[in-house]
Amino acid sequence: MEPLSFPYRGRFAPTPSGPLHFGSLVTALASWLEARTHQGQWQLRIEDIDPPREMPGAADQILFTLEAFGLTWDGPVVYQSQRHEAYQHALDQLRAQGRAYPCYCTRKQRQGQSIYLGHCRHQPPPHTHLAPAWRFALEENSLLCWEDQLQGHQAFNFLEIGDPIIRRRDGYWAYQLAVVVDDLEAGMTHLVRGYDLLDSTPWQLALYQALAPEQKPPTYLHLPLIINAQGQKLSKQNHAPAICASRASAHLIQALEYLNQPILAEWASLSVEALLSLAVQHWDRTRLPSGQHFSLLPGQHLE
Ligand SMILES: [Zn+2]
Repeated sequence: MEPLSFPYRGRFAPTPSGPLHFGSLVTALASWLEARTHQGQWQLRIEDIDPPREMPGAADQILFTLEAFGLTWDGPVVYQSQRHEAYQHALDQLRAQGRAYPCYCTRKQRQGQSIYLGHCRHQPPPHTHLAPAWRFALEENSLLCWEDQLQGHQAFNFLEIGDPIIRRRDGYWAYQLAVVVDDLEAGMTHLVRGYDLLDSTPWQLALYQALAPEQKPPTYLHLPLIINAQGQKLSKQNHAPAICASRASAHLIQALEYLNQPILAEWASLSVEALLSLAVQHWDRTRLPSGQHFSLLPGQHLE
C-alpha cells in the first residue's frame, strides 16, 4: 500500500433499475476494499436520474443488500434525483464558458452514427420550437489521457469520442454531467468501477477540467466485467440473477475469487464481518486481473 499524502474518498454508485447482481457486487467489494485499506471514506450514491429505467423499490433493496453483505458506507446516501439544482448550475456555468450548446439532431438524422462530431456546434440549426438536448463542447485538438490504476495508460481524442449529451432532450440530466458534478462536490479521489465506464472517462476528465480546472481529477481503476455464457455483461437488462443476502459469505468469497485475492478454506464458515475484516488485511490490488472481462467462466461459480 502506497503512503497517503491526501485523504482517500471513493464511492459506489448503482443505478436502481433492479436488484444488485453479482457483477455489481464484485465492483462494490473492490471499491470498498480499496477505500478501507486506505482508511478512506466510501460513499454511496444512488444514480436515479433516469426514471423510465428505474424499478420501484430497487434503491431500498440495494441499500438492504449492501448492508447484509457488510459493505457499510460513510455519511448520508446521495440521491441524484435530489441534485437538480447542482446540475443546472453546472450547465449554466458551461454555457457561460461557451462549452455547452443545444443540439436538435434526432436519432433519425444521426443515422446510427454514435460519435457526435459537433454538428449543431458548427452549424447552429434554425430556430425551432422543439426542446433541444444540450451537449458539452470538447476541445477538438486536445488529447484526454490518464493512467488507469489497472488498465494502464489510456488516451482518447475528440474524433474517437465526440461531444457528449449533458442534458437530454426529454429534460433528464445525462449521466456524464451528473457523475462529475457529484464526484467534484464530494471530493472523490479514487474511482473504482467497471470497464464499461472506461470510455466515459475522457468525457468526465474534460468536464472536470471545464468545471473545476484547479481540482485534480480522481484516480481511476476500471475493473474487468463479468460476462455470462452468451458473452454479455451481467446486467439488469439481461436478467442477471439477484444475489441473495442469505448466502452473503459465499457470494463474497466468489467475488474475491474473481478479484484474484487470496482466500483460505476456513473463511467459508465466517460471518460477513469477520470475512471482510480478513479480506481487508489480505487485500492486494496488484493481484487484480486487468483486461475487459474476468477470465473465470460464468457458471463455474455462479448459480
Ligand atoms: Zn445536433
